[in-house]
Amino acid sequence: MDIQIIRNASPAAKPADEGKLGFGRIFTDHMFTMEWDREKGWHDAKIEPFGNLSIHPASTVLHYGSEIFEGMKAYRWADGRIVLFRPQENFARMNRSAVRMGLPELDPDFALRSLKELIKIDADWVPHGVGTSLYIRPFMIGDDEHLGVHSVQHVRYLVILSPSGSYYAAGINPVDIMIEDADVRAVRGGTGEAKCGGNYGASVRAGERAEQKGYAQVLWLDGVERKYIEEVGSMNIMFKIKGKVCTPVLNGSILPGITRKSILELLRSEGVEAEERRISLAELIDAAQDGTLEEAWGCGTAAVVSPVGHLAYEGKVYEINGAKIGPVTQHLYDELTGIQWGKRPDPFNWIVPVE
Ligand SMILES: *Cc1c(COP(=O)(O)O)cnc(C)c1O
Repeated sequence: MDIQIIRNASPAAKPADEGKLGFGRIFTDHMFTMEWDREKGWHDAKIEPFGNLSIHPASTVLHYGSEIFEGMKAYRWADGRIVLFRPQENFARMNRSAVRMGLPELDPDFALRSLKELIKIDADWVPHGVGTSLYIRPFMIGDDEHLGVHSVQHVRYLVILSPSGSYYAAGINPVDIMIEDADVRAVRGGTGEAKCGGNYGASVRAGERAEQKGYAQVLWLDGVERKYIEEVGSMNIMFKIKGKVCTPVLNGSILPGITRKSILELLRSEGVEAEERRISLAELIDAAQDGTLEEAWGCGTAAVVSPVGHLAYEGKVYEINGAKIGPVTQHLYDELTGIQWGKRPDPFNWIVPVE
């Protein structure tokens, strides 16, 4: 498929101070758009000026949440090259999300090619500062123009780009998290495995409650028994308990993170055992109490790894590793960011240059 290119005739000024980029507030000059319907399949691929969408008020996405998305980053290396980290994994996951939500799958090769074209056109927007990146948000919406609850007949796929600041502008500081035992994020058979908008809308309330009590994130429990650990905020979670790394096994309600997968592959390549298993809340609290919970960290594209300093549950607060980043967490951060920024070799071929 050809990509029609419509250049933005009035490009915006690039942010002057990369220290103030923040996250997800500034967008580049162009976006990628493509449409789908049952007859024609995917068609009308375009790179066009970034701008508001015109959307019918009865559009499926507005009423029934037919939406999926991805999140990844482009990194500018010291030699000027712009690279992606395992983008094929994102498009594979997006297709799994699409299947779950009754949305059409993308051709992953075309999705990657069109993403590269878009980034090349907006290459000047990829920031230069240490830790900064171009955040990439592909998303898909159902936009049938009628209100029946039914399989979608018309869909749009878009990619928008947002230069983003360093997640750790103030250094890697461990975060405090609260175990959430009222709201749940997802259940098996539901949409927890899919990166679909509704999961996030429904998680905001618990996040707000945690924030009011001074916690950065919530730790989600399983939606059935509320006995097992699932994720933290919108990151996967890992622990080092009695010298061993472990993370909740993908059970159908946990989002299969690419950072999670990369960490497991990295550790195993180093000969370090990393368990994927059910981890009960009781086990975690016991370990936190007797000091055998040696490290805890969240992992996801935004933060890479985010050490956990304190864990709060039922009015008690447990400190982990003296509320300092632990050696395994630091090692994983150094290795992954080293590969992402071209400062370390990439034995896994995870890096995909934008060319
Ligand atoms: C995106 C996401 C993650 C992390 O996935 P990555 O591919 O590592 O960025 C984890 N949990 C949830 C709920 C997510 O939405």
